Amino acid sequence: GLGLGYIARLISLEEISRVSVATAMMLQVFALGIEPIIKFGTEEQKKKYLPALAKGERLASTAVTEATGGSDPTGIRTSYRKEGNDYILNGRKCFITNSHIADTITILAKDNENPKAFSTFILEKEMQGFKPTREEHKLGMRGCNTGELAIENCRVPGENLLGDEGKGMRVALSAIGDVGRGGMVGCALGLQAACLEASVKFANERILYGKPISNLQTIQNKLAEMKIDLEAGRLLGYRAAAIQDKGGRSSNEFAMAKYFTTEAAQKAAKMAVDIHGGYGCMEEYAVSRYLRDSFVLGPSAGTSDIMKVIIARWVLS
Ligand SMILES: Cc1cc2nc3c(=O)[nH]c(=O)nc-3n(C[C@H](O)[C@H](O)[C@H](O)COP(=O)(O)OP(=O)(O)OC[C@H]3O[C@@H](n4cnc5c(N)ncnc54)[C@H](O)[C@@H]3O)c2cc1C
Repeated sequence: GLGLGYIARLISLEEISRVSVATAMMLQVFALGIEPIIKFGTEEQKKKYLPALAKGERLASTAVTEATGGSDPTGIRTSYRKEGNDYILNGRKCFITNSHIADTITILAKDNENPKAFSTFILEKEMQGFKPTREEHKLGMRGCNTGELAIENCRVPGENLLGDEGKGMRVALSAIGDVGRGGMVGCALGLQAACLEASVKFANERILYGKPISNLQTIQNKLAEMKIDLEAGRLLGYRAAAIQDKGGRSSNEFAMAKYFTTEAAQKAAKMAVDIHGGYGCMEEYAVSRYLRDSFVLGPSAGTSDIMKVIIARWVLS
């Protein structure tokens, strides 16, 4: 709500994620739900939705993924048909962050009569025929809510169409490319920083052979690798964010940063668990949670394979 820009958002998410990746994830998808309204909303839509969202009175999310369409969003089956001025939506979304707590959700659906045309709609939790169903129990990031949304003959007023009819794929993907991936970079950097901090603390406290294990070169190598990856990830992420703040587009740069930082977070979490020896496998030590959380960073806002597809397409173009 403060309009601070991409770098400030990245650093804020990183700081929150150092303590709780799950909380950062919830906030990151909150912004991802708002972004399409900021970018593609009409003045009326902005006036209607943004003040309450900016004040935190209502929570947002975005729902693209379905059982038949994740990496390939054209595979989605949620459909819409026009009835007078309204649209009737039917379908099911899965793996949606904030599914059970969001009030305002931007949803991608397919034209019932033209499977190549997609549109994005603003749905509200109060709408008849729209409700959260199954809540997922994840490997990690258990502190944030992820689940399914069922949409059954949900009547959506024409004024809730976001962007032009038939151009909804652009609305959804541009938000995921900039805000979604940028946010995941913040989450991943925070987790990397948390792994490094926990490892330094443990290495200085754990005494073996009469000395802290931070004296062992193998431990030092791991700490050095974590630090290099953290700083390299920051440079990739902050640079992508700076391009956005200057009015440019940096979806490709964010794809590189997302790939690098989420992979580095997994590597850092494994090294942190290793440094902790047997303690790393015990739930009292946060590093065991970091390892579980690190695996959940991967698919969110696009898998590492998809990041490479985007980057390769960019370098080949
Ligand atoms: C914690 C969490 C939160 C999420 N939150 C949201 C949310 O709020 N809103 C939302 O809409 N979605 C959300 N998602 C869904 C997420 O975007 C998808 O999981 C992701 O896009 C991958 O889709 P999929 O799970 O269907 O995997 P699939 O697309 O089925 O992929 C399966 C495998 O195939 C690989 N693959 C697919 N295509 C290619 C290719 N072209 N080249 C090489 N390999 C390929 C993938 O990398 C993967 O290894 C969330 C997911 C998670 C885990």
